Amino acid sequence: MSDRYAVFGNPIAHTLSPRIHAAFAAQTGQALTYEALLAPLGGFPEAVAAFSRAGGQGANVTVPFKEEAHALCDHLSPRAEAAGAVNTLKFAGDAIFGDNTDGVGLVNDLTGRLDLEGKRILLLGAGGAARGVVLPLLQQRPAELFIVNRTAARAEELAARFATPGVMRGGGYEALEGRRFDLVINATAASLSGDLPPLPAGVFAPGAQAYEMMYGRDTPFLAFARGEGAHGSDGLGMLVEQAAEAFFLWRGVRPKTAPVMAMLRAC
Ligand code: NDP
Repeated sequence: MSDRYAVFGNPIAHTLSPRIHAAFAAQTGQALTYEALLAPLGGFPEAVAAFSRAGGQGANVTVPFKEEAHALCDHLSPRAEAAGAVNTLKFAGDAIFGDNTDGVGLVNDLTGRLDLEGKRILLLGAGGAARGVVLPLLQQRPAELFIVNRTAARAEELAARFATPGVMRGGGYEALEGRRFDLVINATAASLSGDLPPLPAGVFAPGAQAYEMMYGRDTPFLAFARGEGAHGSDGLGMLVEQAAEAFFLWRGVRPKTAPVMAMLRAC
């Protein structure tokens, strides 16, 4: 029988993860199945326990369960601990190991086309997605990592957790007036409702990159970035790269991401 994996979320119907992991398994010759499972709100721990009892070996976790998954784990990777959120579970007997591969997924996607060392990075948002990427971004040694959020206090709190004086700052959007960045990452949920975070004109330095974590459609953020002369990309690469890191954690084999990305873009 094949080893079993799954992704838990609510809603979950639109997830691309089963297709991505099926493609990784075919490419690497690994015998496994990967399914999308809807966990009821308020019933996430029970759904995970039932899957593990039924022979599940590991799972991904998506909205809205990443914080609950963090609380459920017996052991955490340093990056999951720093993020306060878990997107990858690995079962070992009765114990659960939790990791967060979102941040390394973003960094692997970005570093394919941009050296982050010495760059001025602006991170928009202070929710689950933003928290997951701070440590991996800092490990790339940027000159600056500035977090802004609609609720400024959440950005200040997040920046304070990583105590890297001179590099890391948090605040509200008004602090951006007159500032320029080499990379602006949209980790807000604004695009989900067709909104643009309140960015001032001139926030992109010449030749800057804009990264939209959402994927699958053009967004007001990407349109704004283009209008400001920046190069934009969506979060599909991050999705595939975080999946590859989870696959490596489970199977010890690192799949190639470029063919899978090309397959998804062609659909
Ligand atoms: P959360 O709900 O945890 O956080 C939402 C954040 O967006 C908060 O900081 C919130 O600010 C801010 N926000 C919401 N609406 C607006 C608005 N209209 N203007 C400005 N800021 C706003 O969501 P997540 O962090 O989990 O997800 C954020 C995005 O990242 C989603 O689009 C998601 O699809 C994407 N994502 C993509 C991944 C990938 O692999 N490509 C992986 C994970 C996430 P406040 O604190 O003030 O409420």
